[in-house]
Parts: sequence; C-alpha cells; structure tokens
Amino acid sequence: MKGKIPRSGDFSLYLNRMKKVDLEHKTLVGMDLDDLQSVIANFWDKKYRANQIFNWIYGQKARSIDDMDNIPKQLREKLKEQFILNPLTIIDITGENNSSTQKYLFECNDGERIEAVLMSETDRTTICLSSQVGCALDCKFCATGTMGIKRNLTVGEIVGQFLLIAKGSNKTITNVVFMGMGEPLLNYENVIKAADLLNDNKGINIGARHITISTAGVIPGIKRFAEDKHLYRLAISLNSSSQEHRATIMPIAKKYELDELLDAAWTYYNATKNFVTFEYVLMAEENDTKADASRVIGLINNLPCKLNIIPYNEIDGRFKRPAEDRINSFLNYFNDVPFTVTTRWSKGSNIKAGCGQLVVKKSF
Ligand code: SAH
Repeated sequence: MKGKIPRSGDFSLYLNRMKKVDLEHKTLVGMDLDDLQSVIANFWDKKYRANQIFNWIYGQKARSIDDMDNIPKQLREKLKEQFILNPLTIIDITGENNSSTQKYLFECNDGERIEAVLMSETDRTTICLSSQVGCALDCKFCATGTMGIKRNLTVGEIVGQFLLIAKGSNKTITNVVFMGMGEPLLNYENVIKAADLLNDNKGINIGARHITISTAGVIPGIKRFAEDKHLYRLAISLNSSSQEHRATIMPIAKKYELDELLDAAWTYYNATKNFVTFEYVLMAEENDTKADASRVIGLINNLPCKLNIIPYNEIDGRFKRPAEDRINSFLNYFNDVPFTVTTRWSKGSNIKAGCGQLVVKKSF
C-alpha cells in the first residue's frame, strides 16, 4: 500500500500518512494578526508593529521584508533571521501580460511545484488557487489526478499564490476560486484559514461571497462547512446524474454516494440559506443526453441552487468535449427549470490553464 494512491476508501487516513513538511513557522505569509502579535511579543517589541507588518504583507503585498520601510531596521533584521516572507517563487508564467488568461507555475520551499490561474473578464478578475500538491481523488477526466497526491499546501502557500499574482497584475482581483490542483475539503483547516486571510478587510479584502470553494463531494467536509456557517460560496462537482456512472469517473463517489451528497447539499442550504453551485463537466457520450439532463433536474428537485455547465477541456485521455450544437441542445433541456443555469466556457484551454488541465510534470 505504501506510496500508492487509494482508488477508494479512507482518503483522510491516506493524507495523515503523507510526508509532513513544516514550512509554516518560517513563513510570514499565512500568519494572521494573532500569529504576528506572538512573533512581535517574542521580540519584546511594540504590539502595533504586528498591525504594520500585517498591512505590509496583505495590504501592500510587500515583495520582501526590507520593503517594510516603517519597521525599524533592527526589527527587520531579527525577522529576516527567523522568517522568510513568501514560501513560493514564480518559475514560469504562460500567456501574455494583457491576455485574458495567464497560468502561473510556482515552486515551494521543498521543491514541489503547483499552478494557479489568473482570468480576466470585463467585470471581474478571478484567481484560481491550488490547495494541494497533486490530488488523491483520481477523477478520470482530470489532469491533476494523474499526479497522485504529494501533500497539502500550507496556509502560506495558498495565500502566497494570490499575493504574488495580485502584486504582478495591474488588475484589481475581485474573485477567488479554489478550483486549481487538489481537493480543498481534504485540506479543510488550511483552506479556511487562507480564505479568512483573503477575506480580512484590513488586508486583502475579497468579499466572502466572491470566494468559492469547490469540492468533488467530500461529505464530511461539506457538513463541517455547513456547521461552521461559512459565508464563502460552496460548489459541488456533480458531473454525473447516476451513482453507478459517477462512481466510474469519480472514485470518491464510491465512498460518498450521490443520494448522500444531495442530502449534504440540503444540509448546507438549510444551515446557511446559501445557494450551492453544482458544476457539471459536459463530456461527449458520457453525460450529455436528454436522459442525463432529466436526471440532473430530478436530483436537484427543488433545492435552491445554481447549475454551472462546463464544456469539457480535453486532456490526453478518452474524454471529449461534445460538439457545439450538442452542448447547446443540452443547455436547452434546462430552459424551464426553477434554478439558474450558467455555462462556463473555460478560460485558458489554449494554454492548458482550463479547469482540470492543471498538472505539473516531473520533467525538471
Ligand atoms: N477537487 C475540486 C476542485 C478542483 S477541480 C473539485 O472537484 O471540485 C475544479 C472543477 O474542474 C471541478 O468542477 C471539476 O469537475 C472540473 N474539471 C476537472 N477536469 C476538467 C476538465 N478536463 N475540463 C473541464 N472541467 C474539469
């Protein structure tokens, strides 16, 4: 079993067995105000220095500790002895500066590599963040699944992606989606702490409703999210309307079955009164018939939600995007439904930055 990714079964156990890398205590990015206050208290310095440093990290998006020019040099030197600012380095950017999509490749302190995507539309600019190095879930249609899981990202590595991209962009970032590499709800605590830092109005200040956490259907995580009554948006990757078929393309569905997933979505709605977004990746001759559409409508029943249909971004595998007329007829089956249906013609598929195309090959 050692080194093998489970096809089904207890993923949380598997994650606990993974290599634990302690990068967090050396990194300022990822610390909240309380953490910074402890750092400052250890140096016997004035408490307000923590607020100044917080502002430098998240408000100004400082590139180095030396940028913090209202912090006395002596304190900066002490900080530099014990901490680095951001645990990530930008290795590569694909896509032109003024194009609608750019893909960023980052290296972590331990040499692992991850990707994130910047997407601009007229009224919004979104950063798509990774939550893990690789992914354990092995969804058959997703490129990230082919990497297997390496480890969870730290809070600093999650927020670090945002800060480096936002600092280098001349656009104001309006939205964040946890739809990059990994399963966010299998890295629950770090993802939520990162979302809290992204949301903090004294720092980065992205509205909670502009932060979306997307799950392949990790039911305990959805229930915890509901109990914690987070205001962040929840998206569930449905992708199929029958338990049998779903389990063939998303092995996690063997453990967390479709009817229980719908129950969890109801629990979430009842606890928060927030609409969940169901994502449905549309794949030719896989899940694109009228019968599929009817089953989706039946499953959703009267749950207040949105449905987001994502025409498949092809990777080198057996799945294909349906022809455009086929996609349009699938959308038409939803003409009279009581919930909102949107289509996401994924950005960046030409530079392999679309949903499910993120993968880091070990060629370095
Ligand atoms: N693990 C999380 C988040 C990462 S995937 C989840 O499953 O939700 C983000 C979204 O991209 C999911 O809805 C997933 O179903 C979709 N996706 C995966 N591979 C895709 C591909 N090749 N084309 C289009 N969407 C894809």
